[in-house]
This record gives sequence, structure tokens and C-alpha cells, in this order.
Amino acid sequence: MVRLRYRPRVDPRPLTNATLLAIGSELTTGATRDTNSGDLAHALAGLGVAVRSLQALPDDLERVRAAIADAVASSDLVMVTGGLGPTPDDLTREAVAAALAEVPVVDPRLAAELRAMFERRALPMPDANLKQAWLIPSATALPNPFGTAPGWWVDRSDGGVVVALPGPPREMLPMWRELVLPRLRARGLGRDQAVSTWRLTGIGESALVVVIGEDRLRAANPTVATYARSDAVDVRITALAEGDRTAGEVLAAAEAALAPALAPYAFARGEETWIDAIGARLAGRSLAVVEVGTGGQVGTLLGAARWFAVGELVAPDTPIASTHADLAASATRARDVAGVACGLAVRARERGGDMAVTVATDIEGRVHRVTRTAFLAGDVGRRRAAITAAAELWMRLGSVDRPEVS
Ligand code: AMP
Ligand code: MG
Repeated sequence: MVRLRYRPRVDPRPLTNATLLAIGSELTTGATRDTNSGDLAHALAGLGVAVRSLQALPDDLERVRAAIADAVASSDLVMVTGGLGPTPDDLTREAVAAALAEVPVVDPRLAAELRAMFERRALPMPDANLKQAWLIPSATALPNPFGTAPGWWVDRSDGGVVVALPGPPREMLPMWRELVLPRLRARGLGRDQAVSTWRLTGIGESALVVVIGEDRLRAANPTVATYARSDAVDVRITALAEGDRTAGEVLAAAEAALAPALAPYAFARGEETWIDAIGARLAGRSLAVVEVGTGGQVGTLLGAARWFAVGELVAPDTPIASTHADLAASATRARDVAGVACGLAVRARERGGDMAVTVATDIEGRVHRVTRTAFLAGDVGRRRAAITAAAELWMRLGSVDRPEVS
């Protein structure tokens, strides 16, 4: 007879922070990439849950137990993925039980379901699988429609929650979306949070630090973070409710303070792309493009847009490339031939490990030409050349003058 330790029940507490643990030696040896933690962190952060840490651990009972115990001590929500398989190296159930000082027992209903699953496939059930029917007193099973391993939902005696899900993402993700997330939401998940992302061009991350100010970049609420992405530098502002101000009010105040510094560089917001930003300024007009020496990167970046009328790609060092010696004339010709309002001609040439990018625009007869340097050569340089061209076109369409930032 197993004696269970007496645990007083306390009221569930709001789940405002989380620790994520990914279990499996295949992760710590690098044989498998831990995608689960990133996916869960993204989902939780989007719901206003502060994710304290993500950690991958090998299949080592004592280390996993200790990590779960630490996570339980520090976080409202502990998400564990992996280690729910039937083999002896899968030890997550043992580790959760030990961390919470509970003893697993075979749940007769789960065991019957498991046996039925094997019978349907006309297979004998190995004894090893029986541990997939284990429960501890504070756990309920989360059915797994795509595998044999049920997950665990554990209501902790301190009011927090531990969730254990199987490792394979095609099992873990549907269980997360369909079973865990609705239950977490019903419990009260995260804090009131408001987020906005400003997508900037023409200013580097280090220059941004000066514009935004170190104090703001270190502040706890709202947090202001910069991210160098392939097509832009993003500034993400995340605000939480504070005192009698809602998250939206905290965010609005921060945006108002930052707008004078950021607005001159901001071509888009949130998930918007160059296609959206340029499309907004074209306002119904269409664009014809000639690109020389870019490997077609301008077409790759912008070609899916509804307003992209014609794209012509010219290989450098060919006789036809010489007809584009006057790039401004090429922009005008592209526009005339296509019979559209705007023409763009781009030429990229490797120069000293970087790319010299000449961009000519003809916007309803207003012609402009400029040469800029895109950092690095080769494929990266060609892609950056296309972004340089998109940025130049966007600026010309808006005729926005930006302050120079050194
Ligand atoms: P397990 O639940 O430990 O039996 O996990 C079974 C399989 O799921 C592993 O062999 C991996 O292929 C995959 N897996 C486990 N954990 C992760 C993870 N964190 N990210 C991506 N795949 C994982
Ligand atoms: Mg495993």
C-alpha cells in the first residue's frame, strides 16, 4: 500500500511566468534540435507570460528531477517536453513525481485505453509501455491523439501548474493547442500586455541605441528591444499594465515619446513587409523593374506584389548590360515600355568585398539616381542590394528626408 503525503490544497494562482524544460540526450548531443521550447516560448510570450528560461537536459533522472524542482520553486508554470516514451531512458514521469514527492501508480483506465490501442493494431503491448499509464495524485492525463504517450497536467499544491508533453512536435503541438492552451487560458494566463513593432530602414542597431537611449533599452516596463532582421531593424515595444494604467496606455505613452526619433526611419509596423510599405505609397500605381547584377533579388523581394507589373533581369558583363550604362534612362524606359506610373532600375556591382548599388527611380517623370554601398558581396550582398533598392524606392515615393545618423 502506497502512502501518499498529505498536501493542503491552495487556490490556483495566476500563471504569469514560466520555465520551459526540454528533456532528451538527443537534444544535448545536438542530434535533434530543440524546437519545442522555442515554439512554446513564442506562444507564451505572446500571451503575456514572462518566460524565465529554456533549458535542454539529458536523460538523467537526478538532473531532470532537480531542474523540475528548481523550476517549480521559481515559476508559476513549468512546461516539460520529451521523456514520455516507453523506454528506460524516458524518465520525465519519474522526475516530475520525485520533484513533487509523489508516487506514480498505474491508472486502470489509462492502462485499459493503452491496451485497447495496441489491440486495435493487433500488437501485444510490451510491459515497458505500462508506465505510459502512470499518474501521480496531483496529475490528470492529457490524451494524445497522435501517439501512445499521454501528457500530464499537474495542479501543484502551491497553486502553480506543471505540464508534461511528449517530445515529437507532431504530437506535442496539437496537444498544446487543443488541450493545454484552452485549459491555461481558463486558469488565467499571462498579464495584460500590449506590443508594437516598428520596422526601420536606414539606421543600424548601434545608431539606434543612441536614438532610443540606453535608459529606455534597460527599462523593465515597457521593454524596448532592437532586433537586426534580414530585411529591417525591428524595434519591439512590450508594455504591461502598471498601477492604474492599462498595458495599452503604457504602450501609447512610450510610442509617443519614441515616435519623433523612430518615425523618420519607420517603413512598416508589426508583420508588414517591404511589399506592404511600398504598396501603401504607390497607392494604386504600378511599378516596372529592371535589375542588373542582382541575381533577381529585387524580383524575389517584391515580385509577389499585386502592383509589380514587369520585372526584367539582366546579367552583368553581357552586351545587353551596356544598354543600362545610364540607369536613370533605364528606369524611364522600363516605365514607358510597361505603360505604368513608376520605373525602378537597379544595378549591383561587387566592389572591395561589398556591393555598390545604383538605384534609379522614375516616379511619374520625377527621376532620381543614387549610389549606395550594401554591406558584403555574394548572395548576401545581392539580397542587401535589393533591400537598398526597396528602401530607396520607398523613400522616393514618400520624398521623406531623414536626418543623417553617423
Ligand atoms: P520522447 O518524448 O523523449 O520520447 O521524444 C521522442 C522524439 O521527439 C525524440 O526522439 C525527438 O525526435 C523528438 N523531440 C523530443 N524533444 C524534442 C524537442 N524539444 N524539440 C524537437 N523534437 C523533440
Ligand atoms: Mg526521449
